[in-house]
Amino acid sequence: MDRTQDCGSCNPGSIPGGSTFYANLRPMITLASPLAELKGVGKTIVTRLKKLGLDTVQDLIFYFPFRYDRFQNAKNISDLQEGQEAQIIGQIDLINNRRSARRKMNLTEAIIQDDSGIIKVVWFNQPFIAKNLKVGDFVSLAGRVSEKLGGLCLVSPVYEKLQNYEEQRNQKLHNTQGIIPNYHLVEGLSSKQLRYLIRQVIGLSGSLKDSLPDQVAVEQKLMPLAQAIKNIHFPENELDLENARRRLGFEELFVWQLRAQMIKRQLQGRQALKIEFNEKATREFVNSLPFTLTSDQKRSAWEILLDLDKPTPMSHLLQGDVGSGKTVVAALAILNTKLANQGKTILMAPTEILAGQHFETFKKLFAAHDFKISLLTASRKEANWADGKIKAAEIAEKSELIIGTHALISDKLTLAPVALAIVDEQQRFGVKQRKKLADLNGKHQAAPHFLSLSATPIPRSLALALYGDLDLSLINQLPAGRKTVLTKIVTEKNRQAAYDFAAKEILVGRQMFVVCPLISESDKLGVKSAKEETERLKDIFPDFRISLLHGKMKSAEKEKTMRDFLEKKSQILVSTSVIEVGIDIKNANLMIVEGAERFGLSTLHQFRGRVGRGNDQAYCFLFTSSENDSPSSETAKRLESLVKYHNGRELAEADLKFRGAGETYGHLQSGFPELKIATLFDYAQIKAAQNSAEKLITTDPELKNWPRLKIKIGQFEEEVHLE
Ligand code: ADP
Ligand code: MG
Repeated sequence: MDRTQDCGSCNPGSIPGGSTFYANLRPMITLASPLAELKGVGKTIVTRLKKLGLDTVQDLIFYFPFRYDRFQNAKNISDLQEGQEAQIIGQIDLINNRRSARRKMNLTEAIIQDDSGIIKVVWFNQPFIAKNLKVGDFVSLAGRVSEKLGGLCLVSPVYEKLQNYEEQRNQKLHNTQGIIPNYHLVEGLSSKQLRYLIRQVIGLSGSLKDSLPDQVAVEQKLMPLAQAIKNIHFPENELDLENARRRLGFEELFVWQLRAQMIKRQLQGRQALKIEFNEKATREFVNSLPFTLTSDQKRSAWEILLDLDKPTPMSHLLQGDVGSGKTVVAALAILNTKLANQGKTILMAPTEILAGQHFETFKKLFAAHDFKISLLTASRKEANWADGKIKAAEIAEKSELIIGTHALISDKLTLAPVALAIVDEQQRFGVKQRKKLADLNGKHQAAPHFLSLSATPIPRSLALALYGDLDLSLINQLPAGRKTVLTKIVTEKNRQAAYDFAAKEILVGRQMFVVCPLISESDKLGVKSAKEETERLKDIFPDFRISLLHGKMKSAEKEKTMRDFLEKKSQILVSTSVIEVGIDIKNANLMIVEGAERFGLSTLHQFRGRVGRGNDQAYCFLFTSSENDSPSSETAKRLESLVKYHNGRELAEADLKFRGAGETYGHLQSGFPELKIATLFDYAQIKAAQNSAEKLITTDPELKNWPRLKIKIGQFEEEVHLE
């Protein structure tokens, strides 16, 4: 066996190899080594790895698979059946490339033979395969068996060339046999390459420092870090994989919990500005609204107002599905804060667009009050008491409510006294930011009350366990009369019919959103895909104005595009998924999601929440690519959940069911706290992590034995220690 492949800590240079000795001499590879020092990693690969955030050997071994293929031992070709995931070993009878005229792509077609029969194989847009594999070569192929044009066929299987048929037939193959890891990729990089690279260095995981305190590992019966890392990449069996996930997931939740506990302790000793409940004004405000509050809104508001009326800083999470009306509940807290006259409110939104929209909303909501409201973002500085431009310093000084993005709490501005800080739709509001907020008025002054608004769809018991530092209010119902968004899965052949339908709606004055997926991971922001889609749609809808919104546009441009759409100057708004925000445009009742199969259900639910906010029936068309046309396919079944369910929590659960615990859609998955391995639905594990964290904090409140518990899970790094 080639030892350099199996044991990354072996330095190939130290193995005497006769005349090749000096040629083999390589620098000693350690965890800190740059990836360029690995065998087979040239400049191009380094650049591609960098795009994944991978610079060093350590980064690489913490780059976990997001999915696994499971291949049984090789089957006879004659035994294959449609729908199976199977591996075969055979010889190439024929292989060549051709261009498909209709779909303009490159097809590599091959005929493979074994003792029992022959089967056709096709690959799309991978012309190099015909260079790698020649007639007469023995190969191992693994993939899905489908029925095409009357015969069985392997579509885009993973392949592995066998040097010597007889010898390799009985040896473990790394890409086509057993449980095979798959990684999130960028263009020009394959999971096969990553497997090869990780295999070279996996042995080095033995020199990693295990960050979990021993007592915790023993109590929870968790395997050592090194073993978990090895098994998460190359598990021998399902049990190993499960235990590896449990180990790594536990650590993740443990850090999370530790963080929550630290924040809680930090805030316990602090004072807050007491916001007295103003019953009369609250009642008048509620009565002035054009709608009646739902009972959940009332209850949540009441819980929050009670918390504000205490001398200790409130930490409150208001959770409610998209469109459940969290803003107006926040407004009640803001109103009481203003009337208590102790300090201002700051409201932070995830994007400038959303901040702009909140500014408009709150100006309207509080139009009858003498209320100083301002917007402070990188591109806009406005206040309702001033015409035109205004200086940030004046905003900071005079506002009673400042709306902005997170940049608000950068060090540049003096905002004190802040009585209430609200964060909208932000999953990751880290310890450092929380700490910064707490000290906004000065380290020894009263800390602001904290209110977080979130649409994360998780059950109450879980939310309580997960956000140990926050008190929780839930809005479980949508306002009365809200129609569910009619959702349809639209395959390629029905695309035109959907466009025709949309055109009719637009002609009577409605508007439409079109969300485009990221075509390739190298196009991180999806700008290319959205631009191309816009051009395409201009041909399809020549009579309508189509505008484009993407993350690379300047803020002012984005604002203008949004405003034009709001003022119905354009009828169709094409955007990248990156722009997924809580915008509220009541007249838009149509949504198309391109490449819907590429998104997680929760994300699609968030998209869908952008329509159906007015009184009209709203529609959401989920376009899928033609390869997934079959209604029995896993994709179709998964998307069916959106047709069936209209509730974020049900969808989150369906999402998990379909992807299998621990597998994620990477950055396409949103609405969840950023956990790489652990699942939010494993209540027992969350509880266990919480208990362990509590115990550790009680025995070692300053974390003296773990002064800088710094834990790295994949690209996720969070320092628990608070200064
Ligand atoms: P989210 O919880 O997603 O932030 P919003 O606060 O933006 O939802 O509310 C969505 C829409 O519902 C807004 O247009 C808001 O004015 C409206 N709304 C809020 N509460 C009610 C209610 N009780 N009845 C009817 N409409 C409501
Ligand atoms: Mg909102």
